[in-house]
Amino acid sequence: MTRDHVPLLLLGGTGDANALARCLINRFQDRIMLTTSIAGRTAEPAPIAGNLRSGGFGGVEGLLAYLRDTKTAMIIDATHPFAAQISRNATIASKVLGIPLLRLTRVPWQRQPGDRWIEVATMTEAAVALAPLARRIWLTTGTNELSTLSHLSDAWFLIRMITRPQEALPLSDYHLLEARGPFDLAGERALISRYRIEALLTKASGGRATAAKLTAAREAGIPVVMIARPTLPDAATVTEPEAALDWIARILETRR
Ligand code: NAP
Repeated sequence: MTRDHVPLLLLGGTGDANALARCLINRFQDRIMLTTSIAGRTAEPAPIAGNLRSGGFGGVEGLLAYLRDTKTAMIIDATHPFAAQISRNATIASKVLGIPLLRLTRVPWQRQPGDRWIEVATMTEAAVALAPLARRIWLTTGTNELSTLSHLSDAWFLIRMITRPQEALPLSDYHLLEARGPFDLAGERALISRYRIEALLTKASGGRATAAKLTAAREAGIPVVMIARPTLPDAATVTEPEAALDWIARILETRR
């Protein structure tokens, strides 16, 4: 690593970011100094190529200070589509400092014939939709905001997450499954059948790695309560890692 290496901040915390980090190191290790930033809430994060930093920056001010200190010259936001705060902060910071920012996001899921989707804006709306709909609910939204479902005292939840939370969840009756995607269709079908699932509650995260559950739900004829993506400020956006590599190559070219 020399001072000619261009510092690039990759906002991560997703499998997409980890995959992109590997591609970046493979293609640009002679040109960039890659640092992936994660929020630091997962107990055992997957190994990541390049440097890793963990924990919040301290709002926009903290992020600005970090970007100045590290002389970061490019930002790629490959966080989860629902990680709206860090994406907003990154967009503001890039504009303030004039640092190019690219958002790598997942292709939104499209409703298919046979889907029984109920689209809602928030977890609170999801709770209203679920109450009359089902008792055995498969939940893939993560554990934030679960207390909005705690009044559903007749409901039983199957909850899939990467690592078991330290504390009990604020739900009266649930079963935890620890698993990291991608998930295949056969597995999702089996899960719906084995746990006699009557409805799926999910976020409209998009992408391929976790889409099989929607096919399995369609096949099983069960409703899907789908929480819409938060809106983000405009930014250059791509959906494929190759496009992010091209974006970096173009910026590096201008710096020669
Ligand atoms: P968020 O609401 O956008 O972020 C809340 C705060 O956490 C941010 O303001 C920031 O703190 C810190 N933070 C988030 N991502 C960070 C990162 N990559 N590096 C450093 N600090 C970060 O995000 P969230 O929904 O809590 O998600 C946290 C992380 O989990 C993200 O990296 C996201 O990609 C991943 N994730 C989220 C979801 C989801 O459904 N939300 C699902 C899977 C993975 P400061 O203001 O102090 O900088």
